[in-house]
Amino acid sequence: MSEIEDQQDMQEALDRSHRETAELATLLETLHANAPIGFGFVDRELRMLRLNAALAALNGATVEAHLGRLVSDITPNIWPQVEHVCSQVLETGQPVINLELSGPSAAESGRPHHLLASYYPVPLGSDIIGVGVVVVDITELKEAEEFRAVAMDNMAEGLFALDAEGLLTYMNRAASNSLGWTERELRGQPVHEIIHFQRADGTQLPAEECTLLQVRTQGRTIRITDEAFTRKDGTIFPVAYSSAPLRSGATIHGVVVVFRDITEEARERAGVRKELAALSWIGRIRDAIDEHRLVLYSQPIVPLAGGRPSEELLLRMIGRDGEIILPGSFLPVAEQYGLIGEIDRWVITQAVRLAANGRRVIEANLSAASVGTSDLLPFIERQLQEAGADPANLVFEITETALMRDVTAGNAFARGLAELGCGLALDDFGTGFGGFTYLKKLPITYLKIDIEFVRDLVTNRESLHVVKAIVSLARAFGLRTIAEGIEDEDTLAVLRTEGVDFGQGFHLGRPAPASQSEA
Ligand code: C2E
Ligand code: CA
Ligand code: CA
Repeated sequence: MSEIEDQQDMQEALDRSHRETAELATLLETLHANAPIGFGFVDRELRMLRLNAALAALNGATVEAHLGRLVSDITPNIWPQVEHVCSQVLETGQPVINLELSGPSAAESGRPHHLLASYYPVPLGSDIIGVGVVVVDITELKEAEEFRAVAMDNMAEGLFALDAEGLLTYMNRAASNSLGWTERELRGQPVHEIIHFQRADGTQLPAEECTLLQVRTQGRTIRITDEAFTRKDGTIFPVAYSSAPLRSGATIHGVVVVFRDITEEARERAGVRKELAALSWIGRIRDAIDEHRLVLYSQPIVPLAGGRPSEELLLRMIGRDGEIILPGSFLPVAEQYGLIGEIDRWVITQAVRLAANGRRVIEANLSAASVGTSDLLPFIERQLQEAGADPANLVFEITETALMRDVTAGNAFARGLAELGCGLALDDFGTGFGGFTYLKKLPITYLKIDIEFVRDLVTNRESLHVVKAIVSLARAFGLRTIAEGIEDEDTLAVLRTEGVDFGQGFHLGRPAPASQSEA
């Protein structure tokens, strides 16, 4: 290679280096002038020697107005937060990065101003000649954050966030109130295991079925209206919630859940469902009456000292498919919606007919509503006359509560029945009223000891006491007792020992269709 060629190469390398240096300088100058970031240089005496327009604007003055002045004079409000940081950087040679500063805004008086500032040591040889300052205005970011925090803490819905592992990262005030946990207690805890591990009925909800967590794999919002959360105190409440993925780019790094306690709504829905069910029963009862699908079963009432049994008539409805429907399913609706009067009259007619056929002592149930109906006694009288039945063969059962609900009407009904020559049994005795003076005044024939005291008579001393009390009460007032719900021999034996007059129950005879024939 010749000398000339050598010189040419060197010249080119030098030119290239100049050009690159010029380019770099221009780039830095452009950044310095135009980036929305404040740059500055502060010397060891903490005087501002260089800065760009962005930093000057943040401080609310021109670049020229800054040059050579002490930082403590330029930004007296922020200086106390910065002073020790500058000293530290100069002493240690270590940068301080992302320090949050706040103070009143220079531009808008009163509005707080938030800055994110970093301080770098500027070395020259082995000395540190000053501090490089980089400042970003984060006021809007801060305000948005504060807005979000206020909004979340004041919203009525509960809100919480989970990370990719299903651990709690955030919870708002409403969530904390409904769940009974503070955010601090739950942060970092597995949410499924703590609040979502069981269903409303207490059965386990395994993590594989957890919709809060499924959002992470499905990547779309899931809405649920029929699950339950568990509170800190262990109680369960029904919730509706939506669970949405939190993404950054293509990856899902968490889940946000917004939920509502739906206890009230569920209660209202249940009420509406019950109402609808009742309404549908009205139609079914009406049809059953019209299509003669009401029938009477008969259950024997056995004299415990021996003798011929009498019987109680128990109502049944035959469903369209032939199934037998117990009165507990339809009588409450019939009572509530005014169909019971018609049913009671039908029962009376049937009972009178059976009594007229020579069946001895038929007991028929009447509802509370009928006790207060003034034309019921004339109706019974007419039926007895038309069928030619002996009134002594008929006993009407009404509950103690029905008799006492309207004392005047109860009195009139009891006396009227006695005048007709029919008997009166007080059903479910012992469960209701409590005062017994009326027993002396009213013409009552039987007290029916409620199944509640008979069921556990052999094992429960309180029940035994009640039975003893009712028997002695009945003796004192000249009434006879019938124990209902006798299901075994031991119970029967105790009742005999206690001197109960009659017994009724599955052990003595189950209810069976009442035939019209003579017994
Ligand atoms: P209730 O008058 O107290 O009738 C006794 C109930 O106990 C009957 O239920 C009967 O089947 C049941 N029972 C009888 N023996 C036993 C036993 O050993 N163990 C148990 N666990 N239960 C026994 P049912 O027939 O379902 O009647 C329920 C209620 O419906 C009656 O209670 C009565 O209040 C009402 N009811 C039944 N028939 C009529 C009716 O013709 N008119 C009216 N107004 N109400 C009726
Ligand atoms: Ca009865
Ligand atoms: Ca009863």
